[in-house]
Amino acid sequence: MAASKIITTKSLKFFEKYLNNASPTGYEWEGQKIWMDYLKPYVDEFITDTYGTAVAVINPEAKYKVVIEGHSDEISWYVNYITDNGLLYVIRNGGSDHQIAPSKWVNIHTKKGIVKGVFGWPAIHTRNRSKEEPPKLDNICIDIGAKDKEEVEKMGVHVGCVITYPDEFQVLNDNKFVCRAIDNRAGGFMIAEVARLLHENNVKLPFGLYITNSVQEEIGLRGAEMITQTIKPDVAIVTDVCHDTTTPMIDKKKEGETAIGSGPVISYAPAVQNKLRERIIETAEAKKIPFQRLASSRYTGTDTDAFAYSNGGVASALISLPLRYMHTTVEMVHKDDVENVIRLIYETLLNIESGETFSYFD
Ligand SMILES: [Zn+2]
Repeated sequence: MAASKIITTKSLKFFEKYLNNASPTGYEWEGQKIWMDYLKPYVDEFITDTYGTAVAVINPEAKYKVVIEGHSDEISWYVNYITDNGLLYVIRNGGSDHQIAPSKWVNIHTKKGIVKGVFGWPAIHTRNRSKEEPPKLDNICIDIGAKDKEEVEKMGVHVGCVITYPDEFQVLNDNKFVCRAIDNRAGGFMIAEVARLLHENNVKLPFGLYITNSVQEEIGLRGAEMITQTIKPDVAIVTDVCHDTTTPMIDKKKEGETAIGSGPVISYAPAVQNKLRERIIETAEAKKIPFQRLASSRYTGTDTDAFAYSNGGVASALISLPLRYMHTTVEMVHKDDVENVIRLIYETLLNIESGETFSYFD
């Protein structure tokens, strides 16, 4: 599968449908159904857990278990307080960005379905321009067109309703994918494509493959913490997004240098098992897959940490997809990087044998 294109019309259609469906942290199951539906022809069985994590399994009877993983949830808001005149104040569900809220449309998820709203913002004319107030959690609020609190409640909106942005999938210049929640819907897409390619290329893996779409990453890796105890894997290859640091106002001395279009990003961090990471790098070099390097101090901040530090230590590694404008509604990735992450995970799996310990002492 060298230079051949990986993403097909059919798989792109799945990616678009999967992205356009809202899957806020804690409420991921509709997205998981779309994901499992796509994977069904390519795997032997599924595992789902109490909180909604979904795992597609190839060779479920094998003793040696390899996980490839992404997370299924997206950042959102909760309704936290309703004023007497019918405005909604919010708190975060994940790392939602107060700076981008003003003037955005929102979808409020209620038992009666979606209620539309807008984050309003004081007119430029009415602001004290010698002392501009930036948007903050305590000054942004949502207007759903209700005249008072009673009308808000009649519309089915209450404290605890979850709020997402409606922004949908777009392609820019034929090779950039733009959407909210590419963090980390792209991860679920890429691991699903690995499963499809294994099936289409008739690959018989010598181990069990657990294609894992974890819930609740955005609020602290919770879904991965749960499912790693259930699976008890021997190896975990995690994929998430990382920052493109070549756009304005990002300090490369602090964030490192990584760019969209320059290939998958391979992480160095204590949670990353060195021998497994070197296997990934050797694979990239042998298959001429471009890659970049990223160092993390202490934590990767991804599900890698949850897998690594579970079950007495699981050999784990992180392959990231570089992305611009993380946690905005216009997250942007390069199509080539998406395909190269898929290739790198696929080719690495072909380079892992059953029973490998990745021990430093062998
Ligand atoms: Zn995120």
